[in-house]
Amino acid sequence: MTIEPCPQHSPGGDAAVPEAAPAPRRRTLAVRVGHVTIGGGAPVVVQSMTDTDTADVAATVAQVAELARAGSELVRLTVNTEAAARAVPAIRERLDALGVDVPLVGDFHFNGHRLLTAVPECGAALAKWRINPGNVGRGDKRDVHFAGIVELACRMERPVRIGVNWGSLDQALLARLMDENARRPRPAPPEAVMREAVVASALESAERAVALGLPRDRIVLSCKMSGVQDLIAVYRALATRCEWPLHLGLTEAGMGDKGIVASTAALAVLLQEGIGDTIRISLTPEPGGDRAREVRVAQQILQSMGLRRFTPTVIACPGCGRTVSDFFQRLAREVEGFLAERMPEWRRRYPGAEGLTVAVMGCVVNGPGESRHADIGISLPGAGERPVAPVYEDGAKTVTLKGEGLAEDFKARIEAYVRRRYGRPGG
Ligand code: SF4
Repeated sequence: MTIEPCPQHSPGGDAAVPEAAPAPRRRTLAVRVGHVTIGGGAPVVVQSMTDTDTADVAATVAQVAELARAGSELVRLTVNTEAAARAVPAIRERLDALGVDVPLVGDFHFNGHRLLTAVPECGAALAKWRINPGNVGRGDKRDVHFAGIVELACRMERPVRIGVNWGSLDQALLARLMDENARRPRPAPPEAVMREAVVASALESAERAVALGLPRDRIVLSCKMSGVQDLIAVYRALATRCEWPLHLGLTEAGMGDKGIVASTAALAVLLQEGIGDTIRISLTPEPGGDRAREVRVAQQILQSMGLRRFTPTVIACPGCGRTVSDFFQRLAREVEGFLAERMPEWRRRYPGAEGLTVAVMGCVVNGPGESRHADIGISLPGAGERPVAPVYEDGAKTVTLKGEGLAEDFKARIEAYVRRRYGRPGG
């Protein structure tokens, strides 16, 4: 008697697992921001924001340069006072003198119309302006101030991000939607109306800007929320209701691990669905912390999802009872540091080197397998194994390293691999 294998549990056959990949990017208008393009199929842009007093030119220049060198492709500054507005052209000039050409974005609230009118050089030095329709003015003044900024943007040919923040939502709009909802036979829950108010504020403000003369391809939208599920819901709605590129970010994400995890959870879902054209990770900085961390986190999200490549990838196993010393962790860290240090030069001399994968594995269980899958990998000896470490390049074992100089020898092999694989002939 022949027993047919259960088709659900057949170990082989034609039931191949298809590749998982982010959905194609949602089709949007392309918005030029200086030399950077947001939307229109361009790669997802990484941006960040300074936390210096913008009026302090030296401190702001230093931080913008730090963020740009870390890989921020746009940097936003708050422009909250006349002193800050007057500092912006000087900041731009000094950055240009340093060879830092990252486009600057001005963040305006409450008095943007006044500052941009009083200091037009500020608006000219900025590649994009961000305004929050909930914070442009109160009552009758709101529409006048909004129109004033948009008319200046039309005249100065600047793109505008209309950035709604649920913490400063247009209260008149929210009240109107709540009233309309209350009159329905089956009213929606208040949270759903609040989310609709966020989306409607962005869309109505964008249409008002278009009616005032702003070309459609000079608008980027954002709706910052502080809850992961709220952010996902709001952006899914925005994505189906407009053609404008979207700036993604979880606002008030929080400090350290919590901020990184919450931002990643929210953004990964949306990016996987093809939603989002530029991202910022709003981490609350640790006292004396490194501001550029938010840039690296944004890059890591995009890189780990396969949306962009910024630096070589290190595949390291988590370690277990077979890694009895910390040599394996130290080597993984040393390799990561080496790659970060070499990348600026490799980027110039060896285009494509950011696509390199390097495996640093702790023992023979998965070490040879993972190392063979990487471009170059090393399988260190675990507890009870011979103290030798085979190196694999392009799937084949090339050398066995051992002894004191193992780390240096492995780094030299990586350098030689990069030169051989990515170097231009005769370069
Ligand atoms: S490769 Fe070895 S050391 Fe690393 S986690 Fe797996 S079993 Fe543990």
